[in-house]
Amino acid sequence: MPTPEAAPLPGHRGARLAVLDPATGEVVDEAPDQRPDELDAAVARSRRAWPGWRADPAARTSALRAAADAVETAGDGLARLLTREQGKPLAESCAEITRTAARLRYFADLAPRTRRIDDGRPVHSEVRWRPVGPVAAIVPWNFPIQLAAAKFAPALAAGNTVVLKPSPHTPLATRLLGSLLAAVLPEDVLTVVTGREPLGARLAAHPGIRHVTFTGSVPTGRAVAAAAAGSLARVTLELGGNDAAVLLDDVDVERIADRLFWSAFRNCGQVCMAVKRVYAPARLHAEVVDALAHRARSVTVGSGLDPDTRIGPVSNAPQLARVEAVTRQALEAGARAAAGGHRIDRAGHFFAPTILTDVPPDSPVVTGEQFGPVLPVLPYRSLDEAVDAANGTGFGLGGSVWSADPDRAEAVADRLECGTAWINHHAELSLAQPFAGVHDSGVGVAGGPWGLYGNLRPFVVHRPREEQA
Ligand code: NAD
Repeated sequence: MPTPEAAPLPGHRGARLAVLDPATGEVVDEAPDQRPDELDAAVARSRRAWPGWRADPAARTSALRAAADAVETAGDGLARLLTREQGKPLAESCAEITRTAARLRYFADLAPRTRRIDDGRPVHSEVRWRPVGPVAAIVPWNFPIQLAAAKFAPALAAGNTVVLKPSPHTPLATRLLGSLLAAVLPEDVLTVVTGREPLGARLAAHPGIRHVTFTGSVPTGRAVAAAAAGSLARVTLELGGNDAAVLLDDVDVERIADRLFWSAFRNCGQVCMAVKRVYAPARLHAEVVDALAHRARSVTVGSGLDPDTRIGPVSNAPQLARVEAVTRQALEAGARAAAGGHRIDRAGHFFAPTILTDVPPDSPVVTGEQFGPVLPVLPYRSLDEAVDAANGTGFGLGGSVWSADPDRAEAVADRLECGTAWINHHAELSLAQPFAGVHDSGVGVAGGPWGLYGNLRPFVVHRPREEQA
């Protein structure tokens, strides 16, 4: 049975959050459930720390390098706590920590480029870059540390201070990270606030914040944009995805099956840019279903702390209920579970890895974001039909095309309406590349230099040439 959502502990009068281990349902620890006045104080401290932090780029570089070292040194303890509160296999938590250190190092060494503009007129103009001001970073529970760092590393590198709010389901590793970084960063440059709603809503609307950078679901993203409109703060929204994998008719199913399976089931399917729908040519459809169902039935599901586990529990009770509901809806509408289709009968939030076939295309598991260990496989008759379906949900985060001929796959990928298209793999990212969704999947650009400039504003100095020294 599912365990209750993070709830105030008895006797704490709502001032603490109990954080539950999704593999057991037991309390891992508590975090503060912060009040509005505590949030105001955090933003005020962040504003006071900003002038000092923005003033010295060289000091920022050293501090961010030291932050990367601190994350690496704390790696194992941080990863273990992350697995306990989030559920993912320990190896995936370790990878999350490693990537966080790498991201800090990447942004430590990235600086904006001053540019002179010569348009032929007797005017000298120079574009310089200034930090926008205190940044609010609001992140979800699926990659608590990695997604937080994707926000605060570029924001800090740009010379902003940051108030970071993790999900109330996963505040513990983030709080530990915040205290580790407090030892190497100047005071109040990075502040972690924790609590249940409306803490995030208040932070997004806070008049002391100049950029709200949010990762989460589409409906919350809309609410964040509306909240930030009051203070006209800049908004960056990294929202949900419903990525399609389109298999071409020359694909070698056995050869790609492992890669395709893990593109959908890593982190128990709780990845914004996971494969969430597979489109297979009608001729290959049964073979693709069998290959994926075989893997879904044989993979080891269990506690993330068990070294044999490849897929952990669904991360929290509301998400488990959601995954179960969309699966049940599809089954009631005529879909068939070639593997899974149900919860696993044990303590914690376990759902059997599920491959669905005969799914009505208008089923919410196809049109929406299941965000869990459930994958519909749909047949197509013409490539145009597959591309239209891939582009037809309103999401536009990523997509992939799989073929024995990568050039042919790339020509099809070019027709996908999304931010990133992969060929014969999925969800691989470099720290140096831009990451942006289109349509409902987001606003603004993260990643690489684009992520740095997303935290900066241009400042132009303009003067007649004869005035130059
Ligand atoms: P969510 O939208 O429910 O919550 C995200 C964060 O917003 C949490 O910290 C939450 O406490 C906070 N929040 C809730 N209501 C708020 C409000 N009114 N104002 C401000 N903040 C508020 O999302 P979730 O369930 O935590 O995460 C899953 C979603 O995140 C999925 O849709 C997934 O695709 C998306 N996601 C997107 C990316 C990306 O890069 N595009 C990456 C990871 C996850």
